[in-house]
Amino acid sequence: MPTYDEQLTSFNNCPVCNKIANITGGDTNHNCPRCGGDFKITYEARLELDKPSFSEEKRSLVSHVIRDKKLTLLTTDELEKILINYQLPNPNEQINNTIKFLAKETKYFGNYYTELANVRSLSSIMGSANKANYYAVLSEMHEQKITERVVTNLSGLTGAGGIKLTMKGWNLYEKICTSESKQIFMAMQFKKDRESESEQNFLYQLYPRICDAAQKIGYKLIKIDDVAHCGEITKQIEIEIRRSAFVIVDLTHDNPGAYWEAGFAHGIGKKVIYICRQNEISEKKIHFDVNHYNIHPWIDSGDNTNFLNSLKAVIEVEFLLKN
Ligand SMILES: [Zn+2]
Repeated sequence: MPTYDEQLTSFNNCPVCNKIANITGGDTNHNCPRCGGDFKITYEARLELDKPSFSEEKRSLVSHVIRDKKLTLLTTDELEKILINYQLPNPNEQINNTIKFLAKETKYFGNYYTELANVRSLSSIMGSANKANYYAVLSEMHEQKITERVVTNLSGLTGAGGIKLTMKGWNLYEKICTSESKQIFMAMQFKKDRESESEQNFLYQLYPRICDAAQKIGYKLIKIDDVAHCGEITKQIEIEIRRSAFVIVDLTHDNPGAYWEAGFAHGIGKKVIYICRQNEISEKKIHFDVNHYNIHPWIDSGDNTNFLNSLKAVIEVEFLLKN
């Protein structure tokens, strides 16, 4: 009677998805083209997976979760949790998963993903229940003109072909990134330009409280001083604004940089929330282009509770609209 490890070396199908995989016996590492890189399965979980009652749909779900959550160990507990707490994504989520995968793989507009012959990893990342579901999602994406495909791959050989995101696909990708982002970008005067006591107060007293308020709703607030960057700072600001769910702009000091950042954020369709020191609003120092927006006033010293509450409420509304 062979030991469990010896038995394993004789298997070359992945116990989860039942497709051919590379399984190294000794430490029971599974490296499956569909389910992903190295993960281990306990003996008990393995017995569970071997049961005939473990359906194709369940296998697809476990495979998808292993990839999505980057699981490294599958125990019976974990298996049970997956079957109770997770479900396969709906068609829209499957399309979004595929868009994210293609954007990451092809990197730039115009590039093709040419590994279609190896459909396994994509089917698991997409979260398809079976082959029919997998091809239905891909066809729908072509019909909606999210992707384009060629039947001949770029080297001129027929067969595998390729698939690429269209401009519509890349625009959807940007929307997905924004909706999943938990970052808020704070456009405000640089730390090095803050000399007066009131400016120091904003930075060291009020700013951390805004960070706390955002954090309570699950967001991370960043300003450009916090980001390690090399090269052109404007480029880095653009990158961080693109990465953010939305932007808070402090118009105090009539700061041209803040106006530029607000304009850039509006231009790429990000929500902008304006704040400004109370006295500058009263003295009408706000540029006419933005004075029809709701501007949340803060004060140098004294009670900023109202300001923080109103800001928190706006962030909460943004969160609810997204989720
Ligand atoms: Zn597998």
